Amino acid sequence: SYEWSDDVNITLQNVFKLESFRPHQLSAINCTLSGQHAIVVMPTGAGKSLCYQLPALIKPGLTIVVSPLVSLMEDQVRSLTKKDIPAQLITSNTSREDSNAALNILKDKNSPIKLLYVTPERFAKSKRFMANLQKCFADGRLQRIAIDEVHCCSQWGHDFRPDYKFLGILSNMFPKVPILGLTATATAHVLTDVQKILNIQGCLVIKSTFNRPNLFYKILEKPSSQEECLTILEKLIKYRYKGESGIVYTHSIKDCEDIANGLRKRGLKVASYHANLEADARSKVHIKWHDKHYQAIVATVAFGMGIDKPDVRFVIHHTISKSMENYYQESGRAGRDGDRAECVTLYRMQDLFKVSTMVFTSVGSLDHLYGMVKYCLNGTLCRRQLIAEHFDEDWGNADCNKMCDICSNPNSNVREINLESHCKTL
Ligand code: ADP
Ligand code: MG
Ligand code: ZN
Repeated sequence: SYEWSDDVNITLQNVFKLESFRPHQLSAINCTLSGQHAIVVMPTGAGKSLCYQLPALIKPGLTIVVSPLVSLMEDQVRSLTKKDIPAQLITSNTSREDSNAALNILKDKNSPIKLLYVTPERFAKSKRFMANLQKCFADGRLQRIAIDEVHCCSQWGHDFRPDYKFLGILSNMFPKVPILGLTATATAHVLTDVQKILNIQGCLVIKSTFNRPNLFYKILEKPSSQEECLTILEKLIKYRYKGESGIVYTHSIKDCEDIANGLRKRGLKVASYHANLEADARSKVHIKWHDKHYQAIVATVAFGMGIDKPDVRFVIHHTISKSMENYYQESGRAGRDGDRAECVTLYRMQDLFKVSTMVFTSVGSLDHLYGMVKYCLNGTLCRRQLIAEHFDEDWGNADCNKMCDICSNPNSNVREINLESHCKTL
């Protein structure tokens, strides 16, 4: 145990009101409190935020949290404030007055703020911010720099953001200030690249497993006509998943609307969700789904953030995701309660062209799509093993427990999967 161990446990219970740590949270916390650089790799929803939010309260001084999205920062500041944890954010669209106040947090030795959230472009574009941050460091108050979604540094990641490149100066500019990177992107390639860019090569990488044993993975051959697709979706939702909640992911807003309409015509209680809906319409859909008024949400990838429904029993992909990272995250919204749930993908070759026009432009993005295709086309290897290998996780002799279409039916040819046998309850 460490000198801070008692404090850490008390803070977990009294401030965060949590009973115990999830796997790897405590190692990450101890590592960063010892002053070491580290990268934490855990699936979305595993609880990465606690790895920097809790340490921020253990020692005096300020934790800077770099986050790519204002909405994410707002959510976090709101939830910290609710727990009486003093936190603030600086964004480029906060008013000048607000932003002066926020900058003063860096200068003011008596500021009560423990966590200050900033977007990465502050480091690149604001001299005032940098000058104030220097002052904070010189005063010995810069306790730690947490970089959320740290894979955004790397062009090999699926979500490269140029402003993240500027974070490379931090380790030299603020020696001995521990950097804690956090991500759900686990490939060795990206992780090495991130360490190089941040200039923290050889730092500790704390990585949890990506295996979700309660999710059943399956590919179905996708028919060429929309009507036939609707028939598959209808049968699945109406019979196989009767009375259960789920999500149908679609590629475009048009697909999303068409499929939602088609399913409604077939008597299903579904709603569409995409970026063209007004914010309050979106939250209404979300709430009605939560309350089981809607059985399924037909959505674009705009439906993602803030889904905290534990009993999602199915996630169907009407079109493949643009990368395995995206697929893992989208399908991973199923079965958060630990009970069995199914992740079904409708695959046909033509969809590759649809998806690839979107991803051709950025470096490495075709590789990402290939990963997805490999997963779909595979007819012999356990799908779970493919996912593990994609995330550079050692699968060894781990057992799928017949929780994928390949392992549960090793002799069938996946390309000829029979819809009737899939919809057993018919
Ligand atoms: P990530 O950033 O890894 O996607 P978050 O930090 O947003 O995940 O946490 C996801 C959810 O898990 C949050 O609702 C959080 O309160 C909860 N959580 C985190 N750690 C624990 C824990 N030790 N026990 C129970 N719930 C936790
Ligand atoms: Mg997070
Ligand atoms: Zn398997």
